[in-house]
Amino acid sequence: MGEPGIIKKLDEDVVNRIAAGEIVQRPANALKELIENSLDAKATNIIITVKAGGLKYLQIQDNGTGIRHEDLSIVCERFTTSKLREYEDLQAISTYGFRGEALASISHIAHLTILTKTADSKCAFKATYENSKLKGSPKACAGNNGTQITVEDLFYNVIARKRALRSANEEYTHIMEVVGGYAIHNSHVGFTLKKFGENTDIKTQINSSVIENVRIIHGNSIARELLEIEVKDETLKMSVHGFITNVNYSNKKGALLLFINHRLVDCVSIRKAIDAVYSTYLPKNAHSFVYISIELDPRNVDVNVHPTKHEVQFLYEEQIIDKIKTCVESKLLSCNSSRVMYTQA
Ligand code: ADP
Ligand code: MG
Repeated sequence: MGEPGIIKKLDEDVVNRIAAGEIVQRPANALKELIENSLDAKATNIIITVKAGGLKYLQIQDNGTGIRHEDLSIVCERFTTSKLREYEDLQAISTYGFRGEALASISHIAHLTILTKTADSKCAFKATYENSKLKGSPKACAGNNGTQITVEDLFYNVIARKRALRSANEEYTHIMEVVGGYAIHNSHVGFTLKKFGENTDIKTQINSSVIENVRIIHGNSIARELLEIEVKDETLKMSVHGFITNVNYSNKKGALLLFINHRLVDCVSIRKAIDAVYSTYLPKNAHSFVYISIELDPRNVDVNVHPTKHEVQFLYEEQIIDKIKTCVESKLLSCNSSRVMYTQA
């Protein structure tokens, strides 16, 4: 029998780095947090620039409120947030972030720079961070109102993660999905996505519409086949709005763009339910394009199930999914019967 291992406490920075690597699993996760911060800051225009799928360089520029000069020293520390003061607020939180962990996490596994200017400040300030601490003091410089966050060399100190993410193209695909999703859901906000020094891949206008943005991002073959859906239910404290393709459209891949309380999430049971409805109308192995925004009483949603906050849980799941199913079904039925009548005429 061997000697027992000696138990030692891990270095705090190592602990934080491991935790950060769980929250941020790939560049697209980091970008999602940064986009949500920009939206929380009331930005109307968001420009994202990427090198090597975001692994080398990921920059997001917004025209939101900016960060106050006096907050720059603590903004990247864990559990610092301008969005939550009391525990009770957790119950009624309507902003995207609330754990005050995104910037801290990113600063543990990347080189992070913030350039920001509030409307009432004469100049912008630039600050760099490492392991959630400000390096030096913020430097006054020229800049527009709003915030620009630059994340460089993501996972430079998390070798295993870096090795696992070898394809810049694959990472860029995930980034396109996140930006495309948020651009469709927030059609009042202009989004631009480009690779550094190259043409833009996504560009939506300020005050555009959902359908117009679907056209820009997914093409007219989807945008022209969209049906609008709407469900409201007082007892379930739920309202649903979305656009779904009619039965004329199908695609081998299919897509479900699901937002719950304005966060892009995945929910396997909703996905299955929608697929089941379409399966009676579409050829085998063919899928629909579905964008659904569900708003629930924040008290009934648990966004903290998973560290990446991607998979959500909510109360009354069965009843809520049932309502959505019924709505999609009747929408498809009515458009299918009109198609039949049209061909018979
Ligand atoms: P959270 O969003 O949960 O508060 P974050 O770590 O994502 O935590 O952000 C910490 C704080 O930094 C936010 O509460 C906000 O005050 C500020 N912040 C981050 N990004 C921006 C931004 N783009 N514009 C203005 N303020 C920002
Ligand atoms: Mg946040």
